[in-house]
Amino acid sequence: MEYKNFLDAREIEPETKLGFDLCIVGAGAAGITIAREFLNTNVRVCLLESGGLRFEAAVNKLSEIDDVGRLPGEEGSNRLRYFGGTTNHWGGHCAPLEPDDFEKQDWIAYSGWPYDYNELRPHYIRAHGVLGLGEFDYTPENIGSALGFETFPFDRKIVATTISRYNRVRFGIRYGDELDRAKNIKVILYSDASEIMMADSAANNVVSVLVKSIAGNQFYVGAKRFVIACGAIENARLLLMSSHHRPSGIGNHGGLVGRFFQEHLWYPSGYIVPNTENPILKFYLREWPYGDIGVRAHLALPSEKVRELQIAKFRAEIALGSGSSSFRLAKAIKSDVSVRDVLALMSDPVGLGTVARCKSNTPPTAYLLINHVEQTPNPDSRVTLSVKRDPLNRLQPQLKWKLSPPDQESVIAAQRLIAHEVGRSGFGRMRIEMGEGANDFLDKAAGPGHQMGTTRMDDDPARGVTDGNARVHYTSNLYIAGSSLFPRCGWSNPTLTIVATSIRLADHLKMRFRADRK
Ligand SMILES: Cc1cc2nc3c(=O)[nH]c(=O)nc-3n(C[C@H](O)[C@H](O)[C@H](O)COP(=O)(O)OP(=O)(O)OC[C@H]3O[C@@H](n4cnc5c(N)ncnc54)[C@H](O)[C@@H]3O)c2cc1C
Repeated sequence: MEYKNFLDAREIEPETKLGFDLCIVGAGAAGITIAREFLNTNVRVCLLESGGLRFEAAVNKLSEIDDVGRLPGEEGSNRLRYFGGTTNHWGGHCAPLEPDDFEKQDWIAYSGWPYDYNELRPHYIRAHGVLGLGEFDYTPENIGSALGFETFPFDRKIVATTISRYNRVRFGIRYGDELDRAKNIKVILYSDASEIMMADSAANNVVSVLVKSIAGNQFYVGAKRFVIACGAIENARLLLMSSHHRPSGIGNHGGLVGRFFQEHLWYPSGYIVPNTENPILKFYLREWPYGDIGVRAHLALPSEKVRELQIAKFRAEIALGSGSSSFRLAKAIKSDVSVRDVLALMSDPVGLGTVARCKSNTPPTAYLLINHVEQTPNPDSRVTLSVKRDPLNRLQPQLKWKLSPPDQESVIAAQRLIAHEVGRSGFGRMRIEMGEGANDFLDKAAGPGHQMGTTRMDDDPARGVTDGNARVHYTSNLYIAGSSLFPRCGWSNPTLTIVATSIRLADHLKMRFRADRK
């Protein structure tokens, strides 16, 4: 996999000044989506990517984090620093946000997007094209009946079934050729954006990005407009590092850059034991082929119930266990074994083999519930700059991931509802295996690699880093793309929404470029 027209920053003459109309920093799902929107237009685009075409440990070291407290996963290796970004190993699990995720809700502080679901819906439909996800249909009845599956016999006003679609598009591999062929787009690999340069201290326009390469050279990329699309941790880091003309960092007028760091919370919490071996569960247990993609059912609380209980959004995946394996897992949850170990056991084929063997000796089968819960916005959950430096002598990001009591309360409430419905419907029994002590939950939840929230959107500059068009407040031409924009994240895996919001941003930029020409 080589591309004829890509440039290599390590070979660019030091202190060169390059000029384009649009400079996009970061070639992951967000950056590549925006660049593709400009394919074969008269806008000259530069796409800067920190890495090369494959994983290199020396480059990924640039993503290392100085952590305070615990990390929501192995952050360094979680985020991939090469062309295509983290989509080089993502799970392809997609679902849109729900309409009420966009609303301001009194019981969730800092909730509310600057626009509603209907504004994003056409972009979700286009994002389905980018991700090859087929029709924009998440109706459990339609998909279940096409596959011949039934859903749980629960009262849908209390516990609902949701659908996820799966397609593991590797953005670099899928879209590299067309970016290479486009005459108006220049991809520059090994380009590490290291500072965003304003014209001067009084100005509100960005003039260039200072780029460093691991070979030690540096150069400048100038443009009319800039988009930062480096992922939620690096977006915040780059704004904070850009302190030459704005001492606290660009966009950090209200001290908000890096705050509201959110992850989805993974937490195995109990298991369902059906009264009889039940085929209904098949729909929930794994991905099923559906045309060219995969689909799978999950359990979630419907929006009306969430509103009534005033809790955060909750979804649960169901995984195969056995009586004995579930007790092993439950025991692990109760002991000091980390939630990561528990998840590793479940995804490990040898572990599953053991489970299968146990199964024949120890009926009935038990099904483990793994929660995928919204983290509510918390200003103290935060990315800042460390005093430690990376191999390019830049300050490392420091992460302090903090959960809040409402996050735990939501899980407890959801477990009780599911347990109640399992029993009431005559389906079986559910055993809840989570402690209600704050430490039990908050210490053992893990994050699945969905970093979000660190440059939140809000039209009010006192409450947001960017406005509803993703433009950084108090700048005229600097934009952010990716999940760092999300004011609130619901339970939906973020990448479909990242692609949809990136398409919306590209539309806005196209309009601005058209206006320049009038
Ligand atoms: C193991 C794993 C599984 C996942 N599974 C799913 C899933 O099933 N569903 C889902 O929705 N999400 C999933 N995710 C999350 C998903 O991968 C991310 O939401 C998505 O990749 C984010 O896209 P992005 O473009 O914002 O960032 P990235 O894909 O991380 O891309 C950012 C790019 O910016 C580059 N970059 C960073 N800093 C700089 C800089 N200073 N200068 C130049 N370039 C820079 C990086 O090298 C990278 O290429 C998963 C994540 C992990 C870790």
